[in-house]
Amino acid sequence: MAPDSLNNLFGEALETMRRTRENFQPQLALREVGVIKTVFNGIASVSGLPNAGYEELLKFPGELYGIAFNLDEAEIGVVLLGDHWHLQAGDEVERTGRVMDVPVGEELIGRVIDPLGRPLDGKGRIAFRRRLPIERSAPAIMDRAPVNVPLQSGVKVVDALIPVGRGQRELILGDRQTGKTSIAIDTIVNQRGQNVLCIYCAIGQRAAAVAKVMAQLEEKGAMAYTIAVVSEGNDPPGHNYIAPYAATSIGEYFMEAGRDVLIIYDDLTQHARSYREIALLLRRPPGREAFPGDIFYIHSRLLERATHLSKEKGGGSLTALPIVETEAQNIAAYIPTNLISITDGQIYLSPTLFELGVLPAIDVGKSVSRVGDKAQLPVYRTATGNLKLDYAQFEELESFARFGARLDERSRQVLEHGRRIRAVLKQPELEPVPVPEQICVLLALTKGLFDPVPLEKMKVAEQEVRSVARELPPEAIQELYSPKGWGENTLQSVLQQCQKAIDTIKKEPHE
Ligand code: ATP
Ligand code: MG
Repeated sequence: MAPDSLNNLFGEALETMRRTRENFQPQLALREVGVIKTVFNGIASVSGLPNAGYEELLKFPGELYGIAFNLDEAEIGVVLLGDHWHLQAGDEVERTGRVMDVPVGEELIGRVIDPLGRPLDGKGRIAFRRRLPIERSAPAIMDRAPVNVPLQSGVKVVDALIPVGRGQRELILGDRQTGKTSIAIDTIVNQRGQNVLCIYCAIGQRAAAVAKVMAQLEEKGAMAYTIAVVSEGNDPPGHNYIAPYAATSIGEYFMEAGRDVLIIYDDLTQHARSYREIALLLRRPPGREAFPGDIFYIHSRLLERATHLSKEKGGGSLTALPIVETEAQNIAAYIPTNLISITDGQIYLSPTLFELGVLPAIDVGKSVSRVGDKAQLPVYRTATGNLKLDYAQFEELESFARFGARLDERSRQVLEHGRRIRAVLKQPELEPVPVPEQICVLLALTKGLFDPVPLEKMKVAEQEVRSVARELPPEAIQELYSPKGWGENTLQSVLQQCQKAIDTIKKEPHE
């Protein structure tokens, strides 16, 4: 045969093969199916799926899914994600070949969803285009940038003394009912107009508590830039366990698109409890203080995903404010110490201060921010001066003075100044204070302008000073945000105006 015709024949054969391959439609799909052996308390044990992977999603009858958690040779322990009353031993279980994922995207903004991405707000179906696995690896070290932009909470004492930066992880801890959630909600409310997307993740909360938070966010118009991922106390433990991971994946989607995201985990104590429940039901051995040893790992795996991405990666950030509940003020318990060591600082809320009516009940001495001060606006340094030290001195002296000791003039001054610091740092919930107003109030405070004001008039005096801030010229506001903060001239002129405002109150007769 001539070489040419051989070539043609060869070409034709190749073409036929290509066409066949393209038109090939598999008639048989391989399904891997196992059977349920037992079901109890939200856990199923399944046999006959030897190839299932760790944390693979398995499909049960009735559109119910479960996560493969314990992989033994003969059977798998599966955490069920939903009502399982219809399941029976012997039912079929199918492999899906994928891990648990959640819908992500702009469409979720303003919505309330469960950890599986189903709407809970009665506003209808959510159209989404993408899904992301709930467990993703944290950004690599080389992809991270230092925290250098502040995340203003609007809470004076936090912004002044425990500043948080975008991409930081700051723990909020305290006993029951000490105002932990309130600090987080205030921070969300304060992000209005700051181009920060917020995610509130409720884990194992009482339905009433969640409803209250939702009402507050709605009332303050914060749902316009917030997504709520909610799993309630009576949801299956599997829901509570996956909720923070799902919420984080939703946040990462926005962070990777170059946006700044704030995420609240309320709270990780409940998360740890749900994990412990699952672990014990799966017959894993309990660890220290009856918690499985890997609780540290599950929390660090979660919080390591919060970061500030480098410019090359889009420069987005994910700031995490995990909340944890302490018992009887014991911050040295297992879960709190774990979390303190994983995060970049903590805001500690004291029940003693709460009872005294010092709200927010932040114990400044036990609170710290390890990276946020590098991100804090430079003008705060001028404004806060020795605030932390003065306050600490005052607290020490106050407990001493309670015994009726006679005080010298200097100590009396420290006490009087301290009382005014405390008055200024008090703040009602849901009323975040804008930066210029914070700065003016703090300046007036640290420069001693409030010292001659009677304590009962401090509220009015503060309002007067805040109104000075609201009337500052645009140049002064611009200078305030500049890398040097206020220069001497602006500073003096602002102080003079504050002094004038305070003088008007002092002149008013006592009522
Ligand atoms: P839980 O342990 O139940 O989750 P929590 O520590 O999250 O409680 P919050 O629910 O935030 O506490 O607040 C407890 C109570 O204190 C609420 O009734 C809230 O209105 C009130 N509260 C919190 N912060 C302030 C504040 N700055 N001023 C006035 N009241 C406040
Ligand atoms: Mg709370």
